[in-house]
Amino acid sequence: MNYTTWEQRVRKVEPYTPGEQPKTDKVIKLNTNENPFSPSPMVEKVIKEYNEDALRLYPDTRAGLLVDALAKRYGVDSDQVFVGVGSDDVISQTFLTFFNSDKEILFPDITYSFYDVWAELYRIPYRTVPLKDDFTINPDDYKCDNGGIIIPNPNAPTGVLESLDTIEEILKANPTSVVVIDEAYIDFGGTSCLPLIDKYENLLVVQTFSKSRSMAGMRIGFAIGSKKLIKYLSDVKFSVNSYTMNPLSIIGGAAAVEDEEYFQKTTQEIINTREYSKKRLTELGFTFPDSMSNFIFASHKKVPAKEIFTKLKEQGIYVRYWDKPRINNHLRITIGTKENMDKVFEKLAEIV
Ligand code: PMP
Repeated sequence: MNYTTWEQRVRKVEPYTPGEQPKTDKVIKLNTNENPFSPSPMVEKVIKEYNEDALRLYPDTRAGLLVDALAKRYGVDSDQVFVGVGSDDVISQTFLTFFNSDKEILFPDITYSFYDVWAELYRIPYRTVPLKDDFTINPDDYKCDNGGIIIPNPNAPTGVLESLDTIEEILKANPTSVVVIDEAYIDFGGTSCLPLIDKYENLLVVQTFSKSRSMAGMRIGFAIGSKKLIKYLSDVKFSVNSYTMNPLSIIGGAAAVEDEEYFQKTTQEIINTREYSKKRLTELGFTFPDSMSNFIFASHKKVPAKEIFTKLKEQGIYVRYWDKPRINNHLRITIGTKENMDKVFEKLAEIV
């Protein structure tokens, strides 16, 4: 390319569009899959007690307290854990580290809409693999020679969970590619593929504190995998920016991981409300793929999703809608408190 101005040289990309973030005292916010409960009370406690020097000094580049807490919780060695500023940061570093411009990577055609943005940004060729009509994946479609694969499990925005057998089938067929399983929503009743990391050196499992641990604002995500994968990931991260994890996220995150009881209690409550919501939505004439996440991807038999989305918004209820092929008649509704969900069903009953 023969550039003559600085502007021609700019790395141009169509950015990711995040969901709206209105103030929650004004609306019922069910559009970005946040958790309706507060973080563990231990998080607030450790942050309040924290020595002010922590803010004056540079943070621990290793985020040791957090990494060690995660290693203990998930039964792995500390050098099998990588932390980042939300799982967005972790996955973006993954793309940068493991995927290259000369080999194609694969992901589902209906999936987290950041993947194609990173692929474009880092000049990684990609192919989207169509989901089946019921929004499940066909493992036979995932064959990649020395490239990469990324699949969220459960998938977003569908909420559909794939079995460990399906994930393992993909791993068996792809020994020369790094396989990333994005488990942002795994804690809401799914089975994590973490036990497979001992068997597959090329498997990286990514999770987040934004959903099941109610800490989206703290920005903490992590990856667990073989020591080799984590070393490569860390080397790239330390070559970009070593001080990414702020001290409050490090101590707050560690405190949250250690409060297993609170984590179990709040995730179970969301699961219960999700199952209740499935029943209510069905009664109202909605259909949806069975969700194992903290949201439901619903469409109505008679009323178009866009119309429902607009009317709910007018009533101060925010859900997510995408004007994209195959999903433009669906709404993704985050599971909030039971009280808020009842308000949503009340409004929906007036609309549909
Ligand atoms: N993966 C998936 C599938 C998601 O839906 C999200 C949330 N938008 C993320 C990753 C990123 O979450 P966070 O950066 O807050 O950890």
